[in-house]
Amino acid sequence: ALERPLGIGNLKPSPPFSRVVGLFEVLRDSKAATRKDRLDHWFNIWRENVGNDLYPAMRLILPHKDRERATYGLKESGIAKVYIAALGLDRHSRDATRLLKWKQPTKDNASAGNFPNILFEVVDARSTVTEGNLSVDDVNDILDEMTRTTKEADKGKLFTRITEKCTPDEQRWIVRIILKDLSIAVKESTVLSVFHPDAMDMFNTSSDLKRVCWLLPNQSKRADASDKQVQLFHAFQPMLCKRGKTLKEVVKTMGRQEFIMEEKLDGERMQLHKRGNQFFYCSRKGKDYTYLYGANIGEGALTPYIQEAFDQRVSDVILDGEMVVWDPNLEKYCNFGYLKTAALDTIKTGGQDAPRPCYKIFDILYMRSSSGKETMMTEMPLKNRQKTIKSLFYEIPGRFEFAISRPGKTVQDVEKLLHEIVESRGEGLVIKTPSSKYILGGRENCWMKVKPEYMDNMGESVDVLVISANYGKGGRGGKVSTFICGVVDDSTKSSGSDTRYMSFVRIGTGLTFAEYEWINAKPWKPLDRKRLPSWMRVSTASGTEDVGDVYLEPHESFIVSVKAAAITATDQYACQMTMRFPRCTRIRDDLKLEDVFTYTELVAMSLGKRKA
Ligand code: ATP
Repeated sequence: ALERPLGIGNLKPSPPFSRVVGLFEVLRDSKAATRKDRLDHWFNIWRENVGNDLYPAMRLILPHKDRERATYGLKESGIAKVYIAALGLDRHSRDATRLLKWKQPTKDNASAGNFPNILFEVVDARSTVTEGNLSVDDVNDILDEMTRTTKEADKGKLFTRITEKCTPDEQRWIVRIILKDLSIAVKESTVLSVFHPDAMDMFNTSSDLKRVCWLLPNQSKRADASDKQVQLFHAFQPMLCKRGKTLKEVVKTMGRQEFIMEEKLDGERMQLHKRGNQFFYCSRKGKDYTYLYGANIGEGALTPYIQEAFDQRVSDVILDGEMVVWDPNLEKYCNFGYLKTAALDTIKTGGQDAPRPCYKIFDILYMRSSSGKETMMTEMPLKNRQKTIKSLFYEIPGRFEFAISRPGKTVQDVEKLLHEIVESRGEGLVIKTPSSKYILGGRENCWMKVKPEYMDNMGESVDVLVISANYGKGGRGGKVSTFICGVVDDSTKSSGSDTRYMSFVRIGTGLTFAEYEWINAKPWKPLDRKRLPSWMRVSTASGTEDVGDVYLEPHESFIVSVKAAAITATDQYACQMTMRFPRCTRIRDDLKLEDVFTYTELVAMSLGKRKA
C-alpha cells in the first residue's frame, strides 16, 4: 500500500464540508471557460489554509473515480428506504411514496426522475438544520463506514447522523456522492489537469486518486517518467469506445481506409497483468479481481487453465480484454451477470463442464521478453499490437481466446459482420483504426462501437412463437442455442383446424443462462426436413436455414418479444420477410398463443402501420 509521503499531511483541522459544497455550486453555476480558474483558486486556498493533502476533497469531487471506497450497495431505492426510516416517515405517506417511486411522474411531482432533488424537497420540509456541522473528514468517515456496514439498520444510523448534522442542501450533495453522479458536468480530465499537469497521466496509468494526490502535492513536483507509462500490477484506465450512430457515419469516420472490425463482447472489461508466474486482474474501474481469477497457477477460476496460452518468449505482459462467461454445454457465451457465480463455481468444482470465465483478449500494452527486453506497446499502431498478440499467445478454447477481428472497408462489410455477430453471440461491433495508438482513458474516433439498437427504427417489438431450434456448435449432444421463430399464418385459409405458423426470424442472443436452462428442459422433438409437422410452414427456397434440428409443439412452446432495426424482404423465411439485427428482449410467459403476431399484422408493420 502507498504510504503518505512525509510533509504532505494537512496541518490544520479538516475544513467544513460546506466548503466542498461551495465548490460544487460554483462549478455547477459557472461557464465552462471559467471553471478551470475556479477550481485552481479553490485548490490553492485548500493548500494555503489546510495543507498539501487534497485527497480528502478529491475523492468527494470525483466520487466515481475513488476506488479506495468499496461499493455502498445502495442505489436510489435503497437510499429511499433508509431515509424513510431515518426521518421516521410513515411508509405509506405521500413523501415516502415519492421517494420510493422516485421515477414515477405525477401531477404534483416536478422532480420525478431526479432522486436527489426529491430527497431534498422531502428533507427540506422537515429539517431545522441551517448550518452544517460536519467536516470533510467526517463526511469521508461516514461514507467509509457506509461501505463497511451491510445491515440496513446500521446504514440508517449513519443517515440519521447526516440528517442531524447537515443542511438539506448538503444532504442532497452527499446523496449525489453516494450515487457517484454529481451532475455538474465537470469531467475528471478538467479536475485533474487543473490539479497538476501530470495528474491525468498518472491517473491513467494507475487509476489511483490517492497516488495522484500524494505523489503530486504541488505543481513544482513533477511526475517520474515511469509514472506516465503503464506499469505492471498497476491498474491503468483502459481506452473506451465512442458511440457510432449509423454504419455510414462510422465508415466515414474511418476515412476511406481499411479498418478493423471486432466483435463487441458483453462481459466485464478486464486487464490481465502477468509477471513471471504472478497474475493481477482488474476491472475498468480499477477493482482488483485477482482473488477470483487467480494470483498464480495454483489458484483461481482462470489462471490455472491458461498457462499454455503464453509463448515461452513472454515473461511479463499487460493485456486488455473482456471477461465473459463461456458455457461448454450450450457452446455459447452467457449473460455476464453470471460472471462472478461462474468464477466461484469454477474455483469450487475445478470447472470442467460448468460455465466458466473466459478471457477474450483484444489488446496488448506492455511486454517483457524472457531475455529481459521491454517493449512499451501503447504507442505502436493497433495492427502491430494485434500481430504481436497472434504471434505470442495461443488460444485455449473456452478459457483464453482472441476476440473475433476482421478487416473491412465498406458499410456492407460492417453490416455483414454485425448481422453474424448479433445472430450468434454478441451485442455489436467495435470498429477500430489500424494505425491508432492505445490512448489511456481515451474515448476517440479510432474506436467506435456500433450496436443494432443505435439503428433501431422499429419502435415496437414483435411477439413471436419459437417453432424450432438448432443445437449449439457442440452438435446434437449439446443444447439448443438458436431459435427459429414464427408468426400465425393468416395469409391463406388453412384446411385443418390447427393454426399454422410460418417461419419469420432467427434469434440467438439476449437470453440469460437461467432462461437457457429453462428452455432446454422443454420437450424438444427431432425435426425431419422432409416430414415437417403440418402446422409448420417454412421457406420454399432451397437451402434455407429456417428449419431447426428440433422443434416444439406450439402448445408446449414459448413466446418471445423480439426487437430489431427493421423488417426486410427475403426468401429465406416463409413470411418472405425477416428482421434486420433481431434480439430477443424477453421471454413472454405472460402471453398466450392468441397473442402471437399474425402475418397480416407483420405486413402492416413492415409498411409502417401500427399493430391494431
Ligand atoms: P462505455 O463503456 O463506452 O462507457 P457502456 O458502459 O454503456 O459504454 P457498452 O456501450 O455496452 O458499455 O460497451 C462499451 C464497452 O465494451 C467498452 O468500454 C469495453 O469495455 C467493451 N468492449 C467489448 N468488446 C470490445 C472490443 N472488442 N474492443 C474494445 N472494447 C470492447
